[in-house]
Amino acid sequence: MRLVIVSNRLPLTAFEKGRSFELRPSVGGLATGIHSYLEWRSRAEGQASDHLWIGWPGIRDLEKGPRLERKFSRKKSFPVLLPPRTLDGFYSGFCNRTLWPLFHFFPSYTVFEENHWEEYREANRLYAEAVLRKVRPGDVLWVQDYHLLLLPGLIREKLPQLPIGFFLHVPFPSFEIFRLLPGKWRREILEGMLGADLIGFHTHDYTQAFLRCALRILGHEHHNGFLEVDGRTVKADTFPMGIDYEGFRAVASSPKVLAEGAGVKRALGNAKLILSVDRLDYTKGILNRLEGYELFLENNPAWQKKVRLYLVLVPSRTQMSLYQDMKRKIDETIGRINGRFGSHEWTPVLYQYRAKTQAALTSLYTAADVALVTPLRDGMNLVAKEYLACRRDGTGVLVLSEMAGAVYELGEAAIVNPNSREEIAEAIRLGLEMPVEEQVRRNRAMQGRLERYTVVRWADDFLQQLAAVRRRARGPGPKALSAEASRRMLAAFGKAKRRALLLDYDGTLTPYFKDPAEAKPPRRLTRLLKRLASLPRCRIVLISGRPREVLEEWFAKIPIALVAEHGAWLRGPFGPWRRIRPLRDPWKAEIRALLQTYADRLPGAFVEEKEYALVWHFRNSPPEMASLREKELLDELLQRTGNLEVQVLRGNKIVEVRAQGVTKAEGAFAFLGRNPPEFLLAVGDDATDEDLFRALPERAYTLRVGRPPTAARFTLPNHGAVLRLLNSLTR
Ligand code: UDP
Repeated sequence: MRLVIVSNRLPLTAFEKGRSFELRPSVGGLATGIHSYLEWRSRAEGQASDHLWIGWPGIRDLEKGPRLERKFSRKKSFPVLLPPRTLDGFYSGFCNRTLWPLFHFFPSYTVFEENHWEEYREANRLYAEAVLRKVRPGDVLWVQDYHLLLLPGLIREKLPQLPIGFFLHVPFPSFEIFRLLPGKWRREILEGMLGADLIGFHTHDYTQAFLRCALRILGHEHHNGFLEVDGRTVKADTFPMGIDYEGFRAVASSPKVLAEGAGVKRALGNAKLILSVDRLDYTKGILNRLEGYELFLENNPAWQKKVRLYLVLVPSRTQMSLYQDMKRKIDETIGRINGRFGSHEWTPVLYQYRAKTQAALTSLYTAADVALVTPLRDGMNLVAKEYLACRRDGTGVLVLSEMAGAVYELGEAAIVNPNSREEIAEAIRLGLEMPVEEQVRRNRAMQGRLERYTVVRWADDFLQQLAAVRRRARGPGPKALSAEASRRMLAAFGKAKRRALLLDYDGTLTPYFKDPAEAKPPRRLTRLLKRLASLPRCRIVLISGRPREVLEEWFAKIPIALVAEHGAWLRGPFGPWRRIRPLRDPWKAEIRALLQTYADRLPGAFVEEKEYALVWHFRNSPPEMASLREKELLDELLQRTGNLEVQVLRGNKIVEVRAQGVTKAEGAFAFLGRNPPEFLLAVGDDATDEDLFRALPERAYTLRVGRPPTAARFTLPNHGAVLRLLNSLTR
């Protein structure tokens, strides 16, 4: 299988060099991580890795496109160029000023700019175009990160069968934060992500936050992380990204790196080294960290002159004033600390404002007694993991923020709240004074985990799960109506002397609406029903839970039989309504009061009254609260109705209490008679249709919309598929 990876940037960045380009590795954990996986895969398969990487090459000039394509094709990469306006609105705008701050829980830094959103959509469309140009049958597509949230959905529209994975490398915010995005944006973002088959997050919390947003905003319920979206199965799951553990350990034991590390130590004399490495970003909590260190020096005069903080800051988003301001504040704070505590022989904070090579960074990891990793919010944080990997003798103390995704795997670290200067100061002291045996004990436990769940395992695990979700989803479910079964059914329909179609209405011939009155049949549907009704030797029975007045109003002019209230009332084509048998409703007053109380306690819920039934509707209610109330209500109804002549039914976002002995099966058989037609087709979408499926003879074609456990022989994904099937009967 060929793996097609799409990320904002390519793993190699192009720089113009005369008439040609020079390609240099892009910085960042994503590119190096996935690169390690690709190398491992090609070693395992004994041949060059079969992959293609699609992304932005770092060049703004659109005219360079064709030459860049040639240059990158040798590197199994395909460059996507974006027009300057789109690039700015997309990257500097929506990615850096909207998604980055909001997803890191900084709503006050978040900009809501319609133009940026439009350019973000445009950029995602251009990436989609590039993918569609390059992707071939048999490929697996893996989309990376928050820059491309809409991409899975855009590709899914064009290639319904392509396996698509999506991984988010930043946090997914809580519902309360995510909903700050305007309604259209947040819906499109979720729908875009749900275009994938598998959506991966670094931590369980982010996965849960995403699932909650999918429920609250789009109404998709999940079962163990599985969601049904337009007849497809989508899974959201947790995959904490690891590092190339052995790779880092190998570098950490190379003589050159060790010598450099020893050189750093020597230069410090007998002082201890505290290391801090980050991109200069407000999410990293650099100021809090400096203030924590300052407080530590203040509280622990004995440690003065015996310790140094080595701060590596990698320039990032330097054009943004927010970042420039922060840099200025950091410079000032460092100046203040050094001025306040330093002397000519001791500088408490050493500071470098530039990126280090991996080897240089590794030397620092080997030299540092304490690593101070205290982001205010971080999707994962690889520096923490790299530091631990490089501590070959097991010594060293990791001080880690509880807001970093990595904290879930690194529970033995000295964990702090990054907002608390006191906690940081105290953790530094504990770290410097921690006995060596304890350092080793803690680190060995964490190293074991890092060694097992490496970046290769992470990628492999993700892609294996993607394949598993696809296997589960293939031809939606074991009972999905296959093309072959559908042909057999059409043939049987054509041959049969007598035929009957038993059709449920809501959810089967029409989607669900917020207000049940909106489900009025459109012209297309009434025309279809008329055509079906005019087929020779074919009886159509519409079996609904709706009251007879509604069915009368909508279908009176079509020559079909109607069954209302799940079988309580019947009417032949154009005939009068009759009751299936005398029914009693003395139970209604008591149950009505109970249902009304539950409706009053749940926003959006209401009670519908039919002649022989009462229905508690909760389609428009907040789903989590509704699901709780539904369970409470069912529980109470079961206790209260034991001696009443009623049955309690759970339908699609309803709970129905109805007179005993009324079922759709009874309603249908009233029309089918003792000797049912040879060809029978029954279609329905909820629990009330199951009675009918069970009661029909085995030869009947019974079809359930959706994929829950069902007594029906086959399933169809949605009402659209039902309409297509019925249309094919009329041809
Ligand atoms: N890094 C580097 N040189 C530096 C600083 C950092 O190569 O001077 C690498 C570091 O080894 C790590 C990555 O950049 O792999 C930073 O990843 P992390 O998840 O910690 O933070 P991010 O910048 O992705 O938010």
